[in-house]
Amino acid sequence: MSDVVVVGSGPNGLAAAVTLARAGLSVTVLEGQSTVGGGVRTLPLVSDRVAEAEGLLRDVCAAVPAAAPTSPFFAEFDLAARGVELIVPEISYAQPLDDGRAGLAYRDLARTAERLGVDGQRWRRLLGPLAAHPHEVAAIALSDKRSVPAGNPLQLARAGAAFGASTALMGGSWGDGYWRTEEARSLIAGVSAHTISALPSLAAAGTASYLGALAHGPSGWPLVRGGIGAITRALVADLEAHGGQVITDHPVRTPSDLPPARVHLLNTHARVAADLLAEPYRSRLSALPLGGGVCKLDYVLSGPVPWADPEVRRAGTVHVGGTVAQMRAAENEVVAGRHADRPMVLVSDPAQFDDSRLGASGLRPVWAYAHVPNGSTRDVRPAVDAQLERFAPGFRDLVVDCVVTPASAMSEHNAAYPGGDIAGGLISMWRMVARPGPAIDPYAVAPGVYLCSQSAPPGPGVHGMAGLHAARRVLRQEFGIRTLPSLAPRT
Ligand SMILES: Cc1cc2nc3c(=O)[nH]c(=O)nc-3n(C[C@H](O)[C@H](O)[C@H](O)COP(=O)(O)OP(=O)(O)OC[C@H]3O[C@@H](n4cnc5c(N)ncnc54)[C@H](O)[C@@H]3O)c2cc1C
Repeated sequence: MSDVVVVGSGPNGLAAAVTLARAGLSVTVLEGQSTVGGGVRTLPLVSDRVAEAEGLLRDVCAAVPAAAPTSPFFAEFDLAARGVELIVPEISYAQPLDDGRAGLAYRDLARTAERLGVDGQRWRRLLGPLAAHPHEVAAIALSDKRSVPAGNPLQLARAGAAFGASTALMGGSWGDGYWRTEEARSLIAGVSAHTISALPSLAAAGTASYLGALAHGPSGWPLVRGGIGAITRALVADLEAHGGQVITDHPVRTPSDLPPARVHLLNTHARVAADLLAEPYRSRLSALPLGGGVCKLDYVLSGPVPWADPEVRRAGTVHVGGTVAQMRAAENEVVAGRHADRPMVLVSDPAQFDDSRLGASGLRPVWAYAHVPNGSTRDVRPAVDAQLERFAPGFRDLVVDCVVTPASAMSEHNAAYPGGDIAGGLISMWRMVARPGPAIDPYAVAPGVYLCSQSAPPGPGVHGMAGLHAARRVLRQEFGIRTLPSLAPRT
């Protein structure tokens, strides 16, 4: 019998497993899929029109691990020392507009401000204090929302004050008057839309403050050379080096699928975890509302996305949604359970930064996903094609093929995404704290059972911090170990 069984091998599950194995416990990870990594996997991109011999790879879920470099877990784990190469695009994110213009968030704050013209000074004032403290901002955003994060108290206080101020300013339509240009206004709204929730809102503004700060930090919004799956391979290698193991093709659907262990950790959606628990614990987890859905689109193109503003090609992430008014309308349609005519789409063209992503004959994968109502069965490719053609004239002519995964099918390749909810539950200010529910300890969900997924604080993203927070509690509460093991390489 293992000391610990972890259900699910996403970044949070593996972060928990690595931490516990390094503390000397025997750890087994059970993964329902045939491949390891959950939202952090890179797999072959093959279709009716694209042969395996082309050698294309697709990032199945996440492609841009913006939270990883400043995550306390990954900062100590040290991805670079383990051979994971982060590529830092010169432009973190772009926001194309209709008349060929685009808002551009360079990693360099000064350059961003310069390009924004009359809004440059305002951009500096809002994001400068956050960008000056990327590690402190990350420590606050990725905390368990129950304890004071580790760090210099003065720097944390400064970062916290800047975080609060920018969240309050951007959290409602009262902030609209702050900006003079559509470029600045829509850049912020595009980042806010990562929450797949009502716009504007305080939760979306908090996300924009955090991700906006990272965009101007030392690592910007990076891509991973060869695909994001390299992060998972590094985590699994470390787990195995410390005696742990991952067993694939092992879905855990009922309590009887769980092998005995002193402690079980659940790296899955709260709604899925609920099915493994008895009352009253089941009802508590089931109460976390589902978030909006996404439809994933893996395009194969014969050339780079022909953005009307060629500068957009240098952005690692492109927010395709148009103006603030258009993005708000689209996101609020989704919240109301309807498909937007012009959906919010996130796009990345990794071969722009990484030649290894080009296929044998020069084809390239383009990663995209669109926001849709939870549970949507619709193939939204026509609407997404139209959005891309709108800002990148000639896009359709380059499309060789596109593999579409509707929201309703997302759970077939990751049970933690019910109905296409890729955030582990609704994102709201309340639900960022009361996640999965209002509790002093949000990780200990039943006797001997801990939740270690994005359904617990700090929520979605590739940071491993829900895993680390859960593992810390398991060590202290179940094994009496009060000191976290080192996560550094070669220990
Ligand atoms: C299309 C898409 C794009 C995204 N883009 C980004 C991005 O660019 N940047 C970013 O930071 N984040 C992005 N995300 C979100 C990111 O992938 C998640 O926030 C992150 O992976 C959550 O980590 P996790 O460990 O909590 O869960 P997951 O990564 O979802 O892993 C859960 C694992 O548990 C397994 N599992 C679940 N239930 C069971 C069960 N009952 N039995 C056995 N195994 C089970 C699953 O198969 C999976 O392997 C994206 C997600 C998607 C889907």
